[in-house]
Amino acid sequence: MGPIDLHTHTSFSDGEFPPGELVCMAAEAGLGALAITDHDTMDGLDEALEAGAETGMEVVPGCELSASFQGRTMHVLGLWVRHREADALRASLAGILGGREARNQYMVDKLRALGMDIDYQQLLDSAQGTVGRPHMARILVERGAVKSYEAAFRKYLGRQGLAYAPKPSLPLEEAVACLHEAQATVALAHPYLLGLNGRPLEELVRACRDLGVDALEAYYTDHSQTRTREYIELARRLDMGVCGGSDFHGRAKPGVRLGAGRGTLRVPYEVLEDLKARREAKGLWT
Ligand code: AMP
Ligand code: ZN
Ligand code: FE
Ligand code: FE
Repeated sequence: MGPIDLHTHTSFSDGEFPPGELVCMAAEAGLGALAITDHDTMDGLDEALEAGAETGMEVVPGCELSASFQGRTMHVLGLWVRHREADALRASLAGILGGREARNQYMVDKLRALGMDIDYQQLLDSAQGTVGRPHMARILVERGAVKSYEAAFRKYLGRQGLAYAPKPSLPLEEAVACLHEAQATVALAHPYLLGLNGRPLEELVRACRDLGVDALEAYYTDHSQTRTREYIELARRLDMGVCGGSDFHGRAKPGVRLGAGRGTLRVPYEVLEDLKARREAKGLWT
């Protein structure tokens, strides 16, 4: 079986391609399985699963949430989420969406105060799904306010940017609880963004595990092979699962390819089998 990609975004959040197209791209690339993990929404999953059934591509329904824990923001992935029955999760997502709207409004006001040619309605019109900073960045580039997508983040939208506001996030306990209620495997995404190594990293990941986080995203576009090995070993020590993916967005993350990251990512099919075995041991569907 081909390598897998368990972290991708569609046009239902800030990705370029609709779910059906992404599934076809995965099939063409010879991937063994594809997870759809849009930010804060599960609205693209039915289309993806349908395309999976048509093309024979194994599609894992998922989502990516921002969670806060010990004063940090981290991303968690829910994989094999029962999205049609996930009432508590849906309620949490609705709350996040409301918080995002307020944040978008606030950031657009700030950009306007800085003299940018952008308004809230344009922002909404430019997006199909979850609206966020990538859509603002595209507008700023189109209007010539900045030279590039990256410059938009550097100057205005990034954490140090002039128009930055934090995104609403769920307490990790709550994120884990509603993902588990929806039968998902919960994974800590792109752990390198925690900026920790050694002991402090292990303590934080252990605390996440103790709250119910099931797996660590050891394979990731921006993890070196050494880092990946370290995360795999950490997961093994803590008896957690391992997952991995590219975080493919299309043009919203230039240079990142589906299933291949920046060219050196390869998540072996065995990773999927191991995650499934862990789920089956708990009586969960796969
Ligand atoms: P949001 O969910 O609105 O906070 O936007 C988050 C998304 O913005 C991420 O998934 C990335 O696609 C993109 N992003 C965040 N920071 C940067 C950055 N410094 N440069 C480029 N893209 C970024
Ligand atoms: Zn994204
Ligand atoms: Fe993320
Ligand atoms: Fe992501």
